[in-house]
Amino acid sequence: AMEKVRAAGLLRTQGLIGGKWVDAYDGKTLEVQNPATGEIIANVSCMGSKETSDAIASAHSTFYSWSKLTASERSKALRKWHDLIISHKEELALLMTLEQGKPMKEALGEVTYGASFIEYFAEEAKRIYGDIIPPTLSDRRLLVLKQPVGVVGAITPWNFPLAMITRKVGPALACGCTVVVKPSEFTPLTALAAADLALQAGIPAGALNVVMGNAPEIGGELLQSTQVRKITFTGSTAVGKKLMAGSANTVKKVSLELGGNAPCIVFDDADIDVAIKGSLAAKFRNSGQTCVCANRILVQEGIYEKFASAFVKAVQSLKVGNGLEESTSQGPLINEAAVQKVEKFINDATSKGANIMLGGKRHSLGMTFYEPTVVGNVSNNMLLFREEVFGPVAPLVPFKTEEDAIHMANDTNAGLAAYIFTKSIPRSWRVSEALEYGLVGVNEGIISTEVAPFGGVKQSGLGREGSKYGIDEYLELKYICMGNL
Ligand code: ADP
Repeated sequence: AMEKVRAAGLLRTQGLIGGKWVDAYDGKTLEVQNPATGEIIANVSCMGSKETSDAIASAHSTFYSWSKLTASERSKALRKWHDLIISHKEELALLMTLEQGKPMKEALGEVTYGASFIEYFAEEAKRIYGDIIPPTLSDRRLLVLKQPVGVVGAITPWNFPLAMITRKVGPALACGCTVVVKPSEFTPLTALAAADLALQAGIPAGALNVVMGNAPEIGGELLQSTQVRKITFTGSTAVGKKLMAGSANTVKKVSLELGGNAPCIVFDDADIDVAIKGSLAAKFRNSGQTCVCANRILVQEGIYEKFASAFVKAVQSLKVGNGLEESTSQGPLINEAAVQKVEKFINDATSKGANIMLGGKRHSLGMTFYEPTVVGNVSNNMLLFREEVFGPVAPLVPFKTEEDAIHMANDTNAGLAAYIFTKSIPRSWRVSEALEYGLVGVNEGIISTEVAPFGGVKQSGLGREGSKYGIDEYLELKYICMGNL
């Protein structure tokens, strides 16, 4: 598989600074491992503050030329980047499966999804309209311009090695910003391959830079720089809070997509087949490793037994294996720490009275494979209810009334995605409006798309990505008053 990627010239292992592929200045490298096999698939440059500082300088000087192009010129380059990603879909998906573990089918899906943000914002670049405001004095004219914020620092996670980058870089480049990206150290290869295609597409040297290595050092450099005007981050709530605090000193704009604790509420009046299919997809996508994955499946008493047995059956049909194999629907977890976290949550739940209905242990394939798991009778004193498990574990939580379900769903500091299953239209409105969440799926388990706003409330984040709203995060308003006319 790696041969195919290499043959396409997409195996990049150095950082990208000012349009040049560069080693870490001290020559250090870090290993990228295939989580399905343990094989070291590449050694990439392990960078720190010096390289980051140069990347920022390069992004800063390029900002003046890139932001001066017309929207149409930037749009064309982005469009070309999109097309190159699509025409290298296979190689990018292979690379993603090799370094991240997700099944090829999901990897191919992510390439298309990732590319869609570039296409969407290439189009949106031309629609960044300003305003003319009726004046309060007759000899004045009041105007509002929208201008790019400047250099953007983008820090991204390993669970969507491409899409979490394009969702930030797409709108940033579209409106004239330049970017320094720090991908996850677990999945730098997809990011570097995508950056290579950006160069090929004619995105100018310095507009998109990629550095990886020592995360706190790189993050620290981005934070302390007065030239970096915006931090955009997807990852854990703990790191997000650090970045927000660290942005205070230079008063940067901040967008954060942090952890979730998604409730998936199945009411007595749900279509059971739709509910099973939707909650299965919402839970087990990427082996449960997404911030919108159903973390708690709340099931109303009247349907609990029926749902539980049908759900267990559906989960049994999932096939665990190496993502490169055609039949695989569940890849490995990203690393040993992820498996240990799952084990800790399972032990906590069983010690407090939950029952394992399926799975509940490491998979016989070894490595970081974990059995798709269903846990019954989960309650609000368990880690499985309180925190994001980020693994293939579906906790079932029984509830009595609609009111109880809403209360349980909102009983958390997180507020990213929620799902409800009901055939009642009034109930779907009532519950959707009562949920303290940024996204709600009604009778649907997979809802993300480039055309709709994605983002959380409470401690799940700040700002929105995707959609016409997503570009505002990279723009400043400027008010111009023309007087004495
Ligand atoms: P996850 O649990 O999804 O790995 P993290 O928040 O640890 O979430 O990682 C998301 C991204 O944040 C990664 O690119 C990681 O390297 C980066 N990161 C982790 N710690 C820091 C830090 N102190 N400063 C800047 N970035 C960091």
